[in-house]
Amino acid sequence: MGTLKFQSWGLKSPRPLIIAGPCSAESISQLRETAKAISDLNIEVMRAGVWKPRSRPNNFEGAGVEALKWIGEIQSEFDIKFVIEVAKPQHVELALAHDINLMWIGARTTVNPFAVQEIADALKGIDIPILVKNPINPDIELWQGGIERVLSAGITKVAAVHRGFSFFQESKFRNPPAWQIPIELKRRMPEIPLICDPSHICGSRDNILEIAQKAIDLNYDGLMIETHPDPDKALSDAEQQVTPSQLKEILHTIKIRDEKSVNQVFINQLEQLREEIDDIDREIIEAIGTRMRIIEKIGDYKKDNNVTVFQLERWKEILETRPQWGKAKLLDKNFIEELYKVIHSESIKTQTDILNKNTAKSQ
Ligand code: PEP
Ligand code: MN
Repeated sequence: MGTLKFQSWGLKSPRPLIIAGPCSAESISQLRETAKAISDLNIEVMRAGVWKPRSRPNNFEGAGVEALKWIGEIQSEFDIKFVIEVAKPQHVELALAHDINLMWIGARTTVNPFAVQEIADALKGIDIPILVKNPINPDIELWQGGIERVLSAGITKVAAVHRGFSFFQESKFRNPPAWQIPIELKRRMPEIPLICDPSHICGSRDNILEIAQKAIDLNYDGLMIETHPDPDKALSDAEQQVTPSQLKEILHTIKIRDEKSVNQVFINQLEQLREEIDDIDREIIEAIGTRMRIIEKIGDYKKDNNVTVFQLERWKEILETRPQWGKAKLLDKNFIEELYKVIHSESIKTQTDILNKNTAKSQ
C-alpha cells in the first residue's frame, strides 16, 4: 500500500483514497444504509449530491437544505466525512453552516470561470479540501484555471477529479476518458492529487472496474465511485451506481500498484531498457528529420510546377499502406493511422509555408 497522501486532509486512508456514496442524497435512511456499508469497508469519505445539476428541468434536483440536515445526523452516527457539490456561493455558505468537511466543484461549473471565481471567493479564509472536476468539454485550460482560482483563494487542499469529457462521437462511455488530458494536467500540476470518477466516465455499471484499474495503473491518487443501496431505484444516475457489495467486489479486485519499486534488480533492468528506448527515439527523430527534408524538396518542386500541396490520392495510399506495414510489426492500425495523421499534417504545414514564401524558391 502506498503513502498517506491525504494525511493533511485529516484522513488516514492510504492511496488510493476511496470516496463512495450516492449520486444524490435522497433520504436519511438511504444515507444511513450507505454510510453503514461503506464504513464497514473502511471508507472515510462519503459523497452525496445535495443540489443536482440536471440537464432538463422537472427532474429531481436534490433535496437541498433538508439533505444537509440528514448529513449532519449521519456524521454524528458514523466516523465519516461528507463531500458534496457546490455550484454557487450560497451553496458554500449553507454547506459550511452544516459542517460539511469537503466540497467538489462539478463539471458543469468548471466550464464557467465566473462561477468558479465566485465559489473561490466564498471559500476565502476556509481551508477545507476542494475537489475540482474536469469541465464537461475537453479543455485542459479551464480545468487548470479552475484549480488555480481555488488555490488563489488560499485553499491548500485541492484535488482534481477526472470524470471524462463530452464528445460528439458515439462511444461506449457516457463521458469518454481522454486520458491524455488528465496526464497532461498531472505534468503541469504534479502536486495536485488526481482522483478518477469512473461512474460518470462509464455511465453504466459495466466498465467501472476496468476504468478504475486503468486509473490506478496510471498512478491516480483516488477513486470516486457512485454507490447506492438500491441503484435501480435511484433518483439520478441509476444506471451507473453500484451497490455496496458490488463496490466491495470492485475494491477487492483492483490491483493496487506502487508508483516506484525499491527492488534494485527491477530498477537496474528498467534503467537498461530506458537506455535502449532513448537510442531508438534518437533513431526515430533522425528518420523523421530526414523525411522532413525530403518533404521540403517536394514542396519546392510543387511550387515550381504550381501544384497543390494536398494530394488526395497520395494521402489515401499512405493511410492504406502504413497500417499494413505496421501490422507486420504487431502495431495497432488506429495507432499508425493517428501517427501518420500527425506526420502528414506537419508535412502539409511545411509545404504550405514553402509555397507561400515570397522568394521564388527556398534554398
Ligand atoms: C455528480 O458527481 O453526481 C455529478 C453531477 O458529476 P459531474 O459534475 O461530473 O457531472
Ligand atoms: Mn451522478
